[in-house]
Amino acid sequence: MDNGPDSPLVPQMLPHPLTGQLFTSPVAPGTGWPEDPASADTPVARRAAAVPKLARGAQDLAELEARQSVCAACPRLVDWREEVARTGRRAYRGQPYWGRPIPGWGDRSGRILVVGLAPAAHGGNRTGRVFTGDRSGDWIFAALHRAGYAGQERSEIAGDGQSLRDVRIAAPVRCAPPDNKPLPVERDTCAPWFDREIELLPNLRVMLALGAFAWDSTLRAARRGGWTVPVPRPRFGHGAQVELLREDRPGVFLIGCYHVSQQNTFTGRLTEAMLDSVLAQAGVRARS
Ligand code: SF4
Repeated sequence: MDNGPDSPLVPQMLPHPLTGQLFTSPVAPGTGWPEDPASADTPVARRAAAVPKLARGAQDLAELEARQSVCAACPRLVDWREEVARTGRRAYRGQPYWGRPIPGWGDRSGRILVVGLAPAAHGGNRTGRVFTGDRSGDWIFAALHRAGYAGQERSEIAGDGQSLRDVRIAAPVRCAPPDNKPLPVERDTCAPWFDREIELLPNLRVMLALGAFAWDSTLRAARRGGWTVPVPRPRFGHGAQVELLREDRPGVFLIGCYHVSQQNTFTGRLTEAMLDSVLAQAGVRARS
C-alpha cells in the first residue's frame, strides 16, 4: 500500500498564511490555529440530538464557542465544508482551510448582535472566523469600523488583531452550505447554538438581522427563548424594527438590514450609506 507523503491517505499539510504553521484541512481542534476556541477534548455533537444538550450545558460564551466550532451534527454540511476545505479554490491554493463550524465572535458583553446567514465556503470556512476573508466581510467590517465598533477596517484572516467592541457577530447556521442555502432541518438542528448564544449575552439590546433568513431565524429564536413576538410575525425590510419583550430581561430591538452579499452590494440595493444608517439606528437603540 502506498502511504508515502504524496498518498491520498496522508492528509496534506499547508502553512497558515499568517503564522506559517502547518495544518491539515480541515483543521484539527486545538492544534494552534489562530483564535481556535476548541481543544482536542472539546465535546463534539455528532447527532442532532446532542446539540441542545451540549449548547445548554455550556456555562459561558467561551465554552459555547468551543463546542460550536467542532459540531458535526449535520451530515450534508459536514461533507460539504470538509470537501471544500480539501479542494480549496485556485485563489487560495497553498492555504489550509479551517473546514469546521464558525462560532460566534466578538465582544462577549456586547449590546449589539449582528446576525448573518451562514459562513461562506471560501470565507469563514477558510479562515475560521465569521465574515472574515470574503467580500461580504469587507463590507460589514468596514461599516463596523466607520461606526467605531471594529478595531480595523479589514478582516481577512484570524489572528490579524481585528477586534469588536460592543458588537458580536453570529450566524444561525454555523457551517458553510452548498449554494449558501441551508436546509430547514439544518437551520433547526443548529438553532440550539444560536439560542444559547443569545441567552449568554448579558447586555444584549439589539439584534441586527442581515437579510430575511437572519430575520426569520432571529424571530424563531426569540419565540423559543420566551420573548414576546408580535402576531402576525413582523415582515423583514431594510430598516424595519420590532421590539421583543421578556419579563426577566430588558427589551431587545430586532432591526432588519439587507444582507451584505455581493448580490446586494454590486447592484446598489445596499449602499454604504444605507448600511451606516442602520448601524446608527442600532447604536441609538443599544444606548436607549
Ligand atoms: S450547521 Fe450547526 S448543527 Fe449543523 S453541523 Fe454545523 S454547527 Fe453543527
